Amino acid sequence: MMTCKEVLESLSGYLDEDLKQDLVVEMKKHIGVCTECRAEFDTLTMTIKLYRHFETPEMPTDCHDRQVKVLELEKMRRSGKGA
Ligand SMILES: [Zn+2]
Repeated sequence: MMTCKEVLESLSGYLDEDLKQDLVVEMKKHIGVCTECRAEFDTLTMTIKLYRHFETPEMPTDCHDRQVKVLELEKMRRSGKGA
């Protein structure tokens, strides 16, 4: 079973469709039993979908915090994996 930290680190890769299938399976298993990660997953997938759909530079205030979170995850992923 993945830890919450591993799930969160995998999320941005998943959203980039850049995550190995077996990791996706593990992640979804964790999300199935962990409400915290499921909430995070739902928020991020929704934000990404909205963001990709509208692609407007100005986000409604409500979305801004989530957007920041996505960017933080992105940063974490890049620094964690190296190149
Ligand atoms: Zn979790």
